[in-house]
Amino acid sequence: MAMNIILMGPPGAGKGTQAKKIIQEFAIPHISTGDMFREAIKKGTPLGVLAKSYIDKGDLVPDDVTIGLVKERLSQDDCQKGYLLDGFPRTLKQAEALEGLTKEIGREIALCLNIDVNKEELIRRISGRRVCKNCGAPYHIETAKPKVAGVCDICGGPLYQRADDNVEALETRLTHYEHDTKPLLDFYQKRNLLILLDGEGGSEKLFAEISRLLNEVRDD
Ligand code: ADP
Ligand code: ZN
Repeated sequence: MAMNIILMGPPGAGKGTQAKKIIQEFAIPHISTGDMFREAIKKGTPLGVLAKSYIDKGDLVPDDVTIGLVKERLSQDDCQKGYLLDGFPRTLKQAEALEGLTKEIGREIALCLNIDVNKEELIRRISGRRVCKNCGAPYHIETAKPKVAGVCDICGGPLYQRADDNVEALETRLTHYEHDTKPLLDFYQKRNLLILLDGEGGSEKLFAEISRLLNEVRDD
């Protein structure tokens, strides 16, 4: 079966970190709606202007906009051998639309990986998070410091704090996760696609587990 994978979990669970490792090892495109929105914001496109008004407050971008974006991306040729969805779906409506679309284009989901981390740890991770403006590599002001303060170890780019990584927006994001996204666990459980992963045991160990699971899918 093709490696058509969903990566799910609350903000701060480590989806971005795992996604980077997965796409390197398995050579599939990374479809992160958050990254796509941030790219549009950087470019100042109409989509970016719209998305920013929601994202900065910690709210979800409306379903029709988000679904349209993913629909277009998933239909592209490079997704034929597989894809990694990161941050999508986040609502039941999105999950239903995704199911319809993937059936239609013959690119059905093979696995939904949910990374879970307790709320105190999520808050600690996100409030200290810094991200490279250039390559997106994540850092933490206490637990994952760069060698030189404010500078990315990998590419030398400047580190910054995301506009939505503040206490108020984070509370809203966590509420949306509980309220809008958590019901999807049940949705994917019912379809026998769900795998629950512990995101508190270190990113190397987590990636080893994910690799093992994805190799099983690949060998089918
Ligand atoms: P995180 O997982 O840390 O919250 P993301 O980069 O995945 O970060 O998303 C950042 C923001 O982008 C979200 O808080 C939301 O406003 C918007 N966004 C991303 N994906 C979606 C989606 N599938 N539906 C609606 N809004 C989204
Ligand atoms: Zn960098």
